[in-house]
Amino acid sequence: MVEPHEVAVPDRSFSLLEGVIGAEAVAAARDRAAALRDRLDGRVVWNINSTATGGGVAEMLPSLIGYARDLGVRTSWLVIEGVAPFFTLTKRLHHALHGASGDGTPLGEAERAVYEQVAEQNAAGVLEAVGPRDIVILHDPQTAGLAPHLARAGIPSIWRCHIGSDASNEETGHGWSFLTPYLEHVDAFVFTRQAYVPPLATGREVMLIPPSLDPLTAKNEDLDAETVRAVLAHTGMIAGESRGAVGFTGQDGAPRRVERRAEVVRSGPPPAATVPLAVQVSRWDPLKDPIGVMQGFATIAEETDAQLMLAGPNTSGVADDPEAAHVLEETIAVWRGLPEAVRDRIHLVSLPTDDVEENAVMVNALQRHAAVIVQKSLQEGFGLTVTEAMWKGRPLLASAVGGIQDQIEDGHDGALLADPSDLATYGARLRELLAKPEQAEALGRRARETVRERYLSVRHLAQYADLIERLGA
Ligand code: UDP
Repeated sequence: MVEPHEVAVPDRSFSLLEGVIGAEAVAAARDRAAALRDRLDGRVVWNINSTATGGGVAEMLPSLIGYARDLGVRTSWLVIEGVAPFFTLTKRLHHALHGASGDGTPLGEAERAVYEQVAEQNAAGVLEAVGPRDIVILHDPQTAGLAPHLARAGIPSIWRCHIGSDASNEETGHGWSFLTPYLEHVDAFVFTRQAYVPPLATGREVMLIPPSLDPLTAKNEDLDAETVRAVLAHTGMIAGESRGAVGFTGQDGAPRRVERRAEVVRSGPPPAATVPLAVQVSRWDPLKDPIGVMQGFATIAEETDAQLMLAGPNTSGVADDPEAAHVLEETIAVWRGLPEAVRDRIHLVSLPTDDVEENAVMVNALQRHAAVIVQKSLQEGFGLTVTEAMWKGRPLLASAVGGIQDQIEDGHDGALLADPSDLATYGARLRELLAKPEQAEALGRRARETVRERYLSVRHLAQYADLIERLGA
């Protein structure tokens, strides 16, 4: 029997954002929230997804929920549970909505039976937690099966899909056919960009809301250079004596420490702190193309002093991603086949995920340390890793796919790869960015301003308020 569980989220003081967006913007957001709070009149806005750690949704919810609560809007988070075949088929669905075939398994009646059974079992717990006047935001394909259950109980639901494909093909058709019977029951849809809106949403309530980041989390807050180096040396990502666990302040204000080490697959020594690093941080997923990132780097390895680091969550750390271990194994197998001189300069890092905030500090430090951040995805719903690197003022080399194209203007606040499968061009542009650090830094400076204007939590919360008002709730 599977059942959902609630994730405890502490309030986050919205006033702290004043230092980033200014007092006026904070005051305007407070007024807006007060109007919404009156309108909701005690009703709770629930978020439901399928993992509390790993991936973009789990990254955003604690901040958005924490701020909403501080602003007086009642908001909660439930995570559904599933069995292994459920997550295999929902990962298959995830690929299909990206236009890819994933592991090629069918999306037929047997899969539908598994999907509906998991939805039904979770629905019992969901309906116990959610009040009859509340509003539910269902995130991604894993939770769409709850929509008919909510509709039967008269509870309004919004389905927010964080993924999508720039073009439709047979696979997107399979994915949407699978989901249609459930999505007929939602009251509104949220997509990241217009290109992702499927035909089934035509004529229905649709809103486009891109993701955002919280500049004050362990993932994004400023870190001084010394702390960055201490975290990377202690975890084993770069060379240097560890001076022991590195302290940081947790989101609850309590003193915390980065204690765990990263698991690193490498054949050479760890890179010295002065060695420029090209870094990609991603889940171990074929659509993030870790193998292509390595192979493209291999084409320029002799022409640069830089080294490459691919970092992702420990493969047991993301509950709804059963593919990760296999992708990491394949990446390691290809890495083993590279010439020794190249292999010695490529580091494959699995970051511990036991403690989300500790993991976040590690990612933060690594992103800040990178000379260039790579995000060579073949498909990307939005690409929060891109936003995160932009906020840290880092130069980016990223694929012109999905939401990445909305975030970066090529040559202004980052560099875009028109064809992510073209490894020669990827290699050449990476070499160029590494060779011209001043130009690269200028891209990074403008990138931070882009995020300040467009991709912070405050804009995101305002759009949710619009949507809830539009629903007439
Ligand atoms: N991430 C993390 N720890 C890791 C690797 C990734 O916290 O070891 C985070 C990353 O910082 C980002 C999120 O996972 O916030 C990935 O979101 P994105 O939109 O880039 O891709 P998704 O995984 O949702 O496809």
